[in-house]
Amino acid sequence: PLVLGIETSCDETGVGIVRGTELLANVIASSMDEHARFGGVVPEIAARAHLEALESTLHAAVEKAGIALADLDAVAVTSGPGLSGALMVGVGAAKALAVALGKPFYAVNHLVGHVGADILHDPGAADRGELELPTIALLVSGGHTSLLLVRSLTDEVELLGETIDDAAGEAFDKVARLLGLPYPGGPQIDRAAADGDPTAIRFPRGLTLPKDLVAHRYDFSFSGLKTAVARHVERLRDAGEPVPVADVAASFREAVADVLTAKAIAACGDLGVPRVLLGGGVVANARVRTLAAERAEAAGVSLRIPPLSLCTDNGAMIAAIAAQRIMAGHGPSDLGIGADSTLPVTVVQA
Ligand code: ATP
Ligand code: MG
Ligand code: FE
Repeated sequence: PLVLGIETSCDETGVGIVRGTELLANVIASSMDEHARFGGVVPEIAARAHLEALESTLHAAVEKAGIALADLDAVAVTSGPGLSGALMVGVGAAKALAVALGKPFYAVNHLVGHVGADILHDPGAADRGELELPTIALLVSGGHTSLLLVRSLTDEVELLGETIDDAAGEAFDKVARLLGLPYPGGPQIDRAAADGDPTAIRFPRGLTLPKDLVAHRYDFSFSGLKTAVARHVERLRDAGEPVPVADVAASFREAVADVLTAKAIAACGDLGVPRVLLGGGVVANARVRTLAAERAEAAGVSLRIPPLSLCTDNGAMIAAIAAQRIMAGHGPSDLGIGADSTLPVTVVQA
């Protein structure tokens, strides 16, 4: 099926067009720059930016795909989880488009969309082979840090654990800010860390104590780590000593990469699932990638990472899940449904 997907859950306005698993267009406009001076995504600004960017993004995607809107088999949208006001813009636009075109409307779960990104293939790109299921999926971005057990892309997704405070990307952004690095902090810390010693400072690994590995085995916590970095930097500044930015960045990055990959690989072992998939903007992190590859190999687990343009928020991944739902025989969503900022991952289609 030919499906158009709209994504507006955070700061990316995404419109993607797919035919089954074939990627025809993936156009993204980001309001990231507008949030820079606030050090994080401001929901109100994100929602307004979606309103302004949606029409041109839609036209650009249709043009790129070389299709006519009348040829679409369905219109899909992220209905949750995400920022309420931001989600509402996409949901409203998708419903209007579906009604105007007389096409079925599919409301898709954003997190499942991140997993679905992996099945898309560019007509021009090398064949990556099929995504095998079940798989463990680790989704890490500015808004979420979730570990999933995915048995099927159309109905059986289980949440194993998630962050109990900050998301991993959020931690990168906050730590960058206290080191005086600009927003978004992830790429800045990654760059600074390349020249640093990851063993210079032993920062805490959240929720990895023996008792945590019982009660919070697959959960994450990054606020203690952020506080530890803040204390470390304050102590040096109070003593009038220079802050070794590269060493702090490398040690912090190591702590995040260590916990993320350790828990994901542990889930593979515990559940007997020898596959792990990564998604979300933090997957761009060089240390997360190498440590995931090393640990996956050592554990006999196969690792999949979609191209980065599909790891960050986009509309194509949403269209991909709707296409899977259509092929599995599921009907459209009710036009009465609204945005649901806390939509659970078990609900693949609202
Ligand atoms: P959502 O949570 O809804 O997916 P988001 O916009 O916060 O939305 P993404 O756009 O996928 O998420 O990712 C942005 C986040 O990824 C930011 O927090 C950014 O700092 C982080 N990030 C980007 N590159 C890197 C990197 N190289 N290392 C670490 N973090 C990174
Ligand atoms: Mg973003
Ligand atoms: Fe996302």
